[in-house]
Amino acid sequence: MSMDNQNMEQEPKQLERAAQEKIGAIEAEESRAYFSRELLIWYDRSKRDLPWRRHRDPYFIWVSEIMLQQTRVDTVIPYFNRFIERFPTIQDLAEAPQEDVVKMWEGLGYYSRARNLQAAAQQIVELHGGQMPSEREHVFALKGVGPYTAGAILSIAFNQPEPAVDGNVMRVLSRYFLIEDDIAKPKTRVAMEKMIPALIPEGRASDFNQALMELGALICTPKSPHCLICPVMEHCRGRIEGMERELPIKTKAKKPRPEQRLAVLLEGSGEREGRVLVRRRPKTGLLASMWELPHIAVGGEDLGLDVVQLEELLEDRGLTWSPMSPYMTAEHTFSHIHWTMRVLIAHEEPEALALLAAESGVPYETAVPEAIGMEEEAASGEAGAGVGENAEEWRWISREDMQSIAFPNLFLNILNRYFEGDQA
Ligand code: SF4
Repeated sequence: MSMDNQNMEQEPKQLERAAQEKIGAIEAEESRAYFSRELLIWYDRSKRDLPWRRHRDPYFIWVSEIMLQQTRVDTVIPYFNRFIERFPTIQDLAEAPQEDVVKMWEGLGYYSRARNLQAAAQQIVELHGGQMPSEREHVFALKGVGPYTAGAILSIAFNQPEPAVDGNVMRVLSRYFLIEDDIAKPKTRVAMEKMIPALIPEGRASDFNQALMELGALICTPKSPHCLICPVMEHCRGRIEGMERELPIKTKAKKPRPEQRLAVLLEGSGEREGRVLVRRRPKTGLLASMWELPHIAVGGEDLGLDVVQLEELLEDRGLTWSPMSPYMTAEHTFSHIHWTMRVLIAHEEPEALALLAAESGVPYETAVPEAIGMEEEAASGEAGAGVGENAEEWRWISREDMQSIAFPNLFLNILNRYFEGDQA
């Protein structure tokens, strides 16, 4: 075949390919426009009435977005209402004692978020006169504010076409556009962040980002997407390919490391009758500055040896007590550790207390020394260790004190059960 004939044969193929690409590009463009249009129509009709949606106050949006990270909307609503009632403005939050802020967060978990929120409020007061800034670089500079939160504040509160890509959004985009990249990888998130501005219709950034999140929360749910009532089902490539349940692709996070712990619920005697002994955690690390029952990390193979270790902790503080007996077992999973906490209960020995007070000349309330080291935990060098290391404060607390000091959920549940159940 001559060269001329070959060229004549290739030309139609090239033209056909170019035409196909053009059709593909037009279809992709139509599919994107359809997605944005239908999503907003659906959102305008079906959006939930949520407390932070009633005003476009950037402070409310910021607080709600921080609370909503890893927590369901239904759980967040009462927390949000209480928090805003107690700290109605950024200035109020900035000026509050940190203990009060953490107390208002009690039960939500991830307490460093509450502390960062307050630190950022102080930044806003200092640098921006107490008003949330609307400039990208200033929002990104706030403590605890990452790309998602910054995008949510800038788009929802200030209607700027910024992406706010969370798990819900990644799931919807993966399914609708048939994206098979691993959403656990940062580069997938970055790629999705780049897609969003082109999808946002002019002037609708606030609604568009909320609509995407809402679709992920209500319709395109993780296990059983409700494709039949989905406003964008017609062009959803994941659904068309029958892949809606396989997407998004996400590699599994490492399983939390199991840790056995042994705690004591020590009931006071004499003037401390009706109170139990608690201590405050160090200012940094896991559950920083929160209160807890005294506890230690144990091997879990020989309860007798474990109890001896726990007793040493109390002995070092000049305490004596009746024999310990099992009270309950509680579990808690942090992002990287799973605690199984066996709790023992014991009562202070009044005679020993009187003797101790007489010898030291110190009244019962202050007989417990100031600090204690837990070298066996510190030496392990693990993330969950160091509990009690440099503990600054120990206290005998009553049921009423539970209102003013903050406990992680695990200890909150144990103490509530103790005060409300056994002592009621
Ligand atoms: S059609 Fe199904 S898979 Fe696609 S976006 Fe809607 S709910 Fe999700």
